[in-house]
Amino acid sequence: MADIPPSRSRSTESLFSPGQSTPTSSVGDNSSDVHSRQTATTTPTTTTPNTPLTSLTHASLLSPSSSPTTPLTLLTIGFGPASLAIAIALSDHLSSSPSSPSPPVLFLEKQPQFAWHSGMQLAGTQMQISFLKDLATPRDPTSPFSFLNYLYCKGRLQKFINLGTFLPARREYEDYMRWCASHFSRAVRYGTEITRVDAVHNEETGRVDRFNVHWIDTATGEPGRATARNVVVATGGSPAVPTLFAPFITGPDARFIHSSQYATSIPHLSTALLSPSTPQHLVVIGGGQSAAEIYVDLSTRFPSSRITLLVKDTSLRPSDDSPFVNEIFDPDRVTPTFELAAKERAEKRERDKGTNYGVVRLELLERIYSELYAQEVDEADETRWRCRVLNSRTVVGVQRLAGGGSGEGEGEGEGGRGVRLEVARTGVENGERESIEAGLVVFATGYVRDAHVRILEGTRGLLEAERGVAEAAVVETEAAVAVAEVVEAAEEVSPVVEAVGDVAAEEIAPVAEVAVPEAAAAVKEAPATATEAVLPETTPVEKSVEEEVKVAVEVTRAPAVFSVGRDYKVQYAEGAVEDGAGIWLQGFERYAVVDPST
Ligand SMILES: Cc1cc2nc3c(=O)[nH]c(=O)nc-3n(C[C@H](O)[C@H](O)[C@H](O)COP(=O)(O)OP(=O)(O)OC[C@H]3O[C@@H](n4cnc5c(N)ncnc54)[C@H](O)[C@@H]3O)c2cc1C
Repeated sequence: MADIPPSRSRSTESLFSPGQSTPTSSVGDNSSDVHSRQTATTTPTTTTPNTPLTSLTHASLLSPSSSPTTPLTLLTIGFGPASLAIAIALSDHLSSSPSSPSPPVLFLEKQPQFAWHSGMQLAGTQMQISFLKDLATPRDPTSPFSFLNYLYCKGRLQKFINLGTFLPARREYEDYMRWCASHFSRAVRYGTEITRVDAVHNEETGRVDRFNVHWIDTATGEPGRATARNVVVATGGSPAVPTLFAPFITGPDARFIHSSQYATSIPHLSTALLSPSTPQHLVVIGGGQSAAEIYVDLSTRFPSSRITLLVKDTSLRPSDDSPFVNEIFDPDRVTPTFELAAKERAEKRERDKGTNYGVVRLELLERIYSELYAQEVDEADETRWRCRVLNSRTVVGVQRLAGGGSGEGEGEGEGGRGVRLEVARTGVENGERESIEAGLVVFATGYVRDAHVRILEGTRGLLEAERGVAEAAVVETEAAVAVAEVVEAAEEVSPVVEAVGDVAAEEIAPVAEVAVPEAAAAVKEAPATATEAVLPETTPVEKSVEEEVKVAVEVTRAPAVFSVGRDYKVQYAEGAVEDGAGIWLQGFERYAVVDPST
């Protein structure tokens, strides 16, 4: 992201919210100011005067009703660690060159406040990497946003040193990030779910020089919009839901939850899970860190229930955090990796998978193993154990038990009975099956990182590969054009949609279900390519035209490929977008990196 110029119009301090405080050692109180270290002696104190928020150029743009004639320099979609690191880098840069004017920026986040993987904030869980890889230190060890300065401002530095660890509790690290985020609160709009980005053409040059970013306010359902020259899409992953389970997660059925919702859901489910009408058997599916953590958490949280971990692989496997292999995460490895030919890069990724994907930290594996062994000491027959890890298992069938998941009240009180899983040996899915009746199934089956494909659909026509396709489709869809006018009246048609008929046809089909039944039927028959994986991602908001558009895009077209360069900037067709404007992707997998060797 180094190419985004942090250049104009706000002072560094104006990114910070005002406030002073006395330090505290408790996690969760984020009132300690980031500058407190500058005056601290043995106990940190905060003496920096409140800095007035002098030039809130972006503040008017926080209002959806404003008319953004001057686009923001930078807008990020999502305010997780990736965007927060950008905010910090920008702030640090401005601090070091106070005469630089600061750019108008806006960070948009769908959650109501800063939270980092809140569904996996489990007691006793730790970071999986050194705290030194915090949001600032590798870039600038003198940044006031380092984890060490956070500890110092909180008055816990000495005690943390005494702990003698590089791996803080995940809960503490979330608090560190929340503390960092609190300093940018005036530049962040929470409760804002971005649905779409459209390109805006400069009338004089004919090129795109800015982007309209559309959102839904998750509290009110109101749509809103801002305009920016540079947009960073940093929305993280969406729960990957096995196809088999997709039908079971759409209703109010509390028997299936993804690991990303585990810690936030389980307290509400406890009563139902302990109900006598529910099978006292809880199942976790997956072979990675999250699956192992949830398995352990369930076994302590429900000491009378049976807990089974179903692992597809032949064994749980340890993560590799050895030093040579972990050099792949060093910043100076990015360029050499980018410069590899696509095939070599894919092979390298596969070889290095053990650092991160579908693996478990060794200490946790050893704990699980020793607890299994303790059961064996008491009972030789494994089938009678309370907690089990079953390797080489694949779920091949799911059935709701009578009375289970029928709707109202499910998950509360005496709700239904749960589900029956048909489980086969991995590799012989058509062979012998065992049946497990479960009161709860947690699938720790990872994430898909393709939200940008939906969000950027409105810019798809700018891609070189898409241009001819778009023009051809305009001719074919007369009915759809008629419907486009309906949607235009509903103020949801962007300049790009107006110009590119096929996008309009597909985006608006559900809105037109009554007016143009043929178009609606075509949409229903189309393969639901991305629907299953995407379903649980969004916070429910009031049905709006905009939301309907989003759903339609997902089900009607093969996903576009947004190639990026070394700088993570989307490579639209030559000359389509002006210099100084662009879309940047952060942390996605399903984009094609432009192969420099071709
Ligand atoms: C349980 C768990 C533990 C992990 N532990 C570690 C670790 O120890 N070390 C490590 O390096 N990595 C860890 N990771 C990897 C993790 O991906 C990164 O830590 C980090 O969260 C990535 O940051 P991000 O900003 O790219 O994505 P995210 O953290 O996913 O943040 C994306 C943000 O975008 C928001 N968003 C999504 N869609 C929209 C939308 N349409 N509109 C507006 N906002 C939106 C989301 O609400 C979210 O806040 C862990 C991951 C998990 C799941």
